[in-house]
Amino acid sequence: MPGASVHDVVTVTAVSFVNGVYWHIQPHQHVAAALWFTGTFLVAGYACAGDLDTNSREYRAWGPLRFIWWPYRVMVPHRSWISHGMVTGGLIRALYLAAAITVITVISVWGIDLLGQHFGPGAFTSGLWRHTAAAVQNHTVSALAAFVGFMAAGALHTLTDLIGSALKPGKRTQRRRRSAV
Ligand SMILES: [Zn+2]
Repeated sequence: MPGASVHDVVTVTAVSFVNGVYWHIQPHQHVAAALWFTGTFLVAGYACAGDLDTNSREYRAWGPLRFIWWPYRVMVPHRSWISHGMVTGGLIRALYLAAAITVITVISVWGIDLLGQHFGPGAFTSGLWRHTAAAVQNHTVSALAAFVGFMAAGALHTLTDLIGSALKPGKRTQRRRRSAV
């Protein structure tokens, strides 16, 4: 399996190429969207790709916030389709992150409520998501670009793992032995 530094080099090297492809296939040629795409691609490649399913550099990159990914790290088998599926990996991480933000917001607002400031955890959190949904609706192209960048980083991570495994010296020797039989 390629190490974190290999994944970082691949992510940074690939970003201009992937961005170039994205720029040509997107229908709007939207600069803000291209920036969103690049931003989420780099951030997801560094700290939100498949290896969050183990005690990896990606996991530790979250610093004190890595507790968010602890249940994911413990529950998801390393390199399974849940974390390393080309499409399912990124999709499940996006949904997991949205669910984690919701739970943390509810608990934080509930804590603030206990201190005497009455925001109402349910109302505050649903208001937050309503604002987010409105922002996505008003900036659909950029939101879509951010999502595609996030997904592309996860897919590139999996592709790098697959190539790394295929090029492992042990595997090559095994294949040579098998073909010699
Ligand atoms: Zn991996």
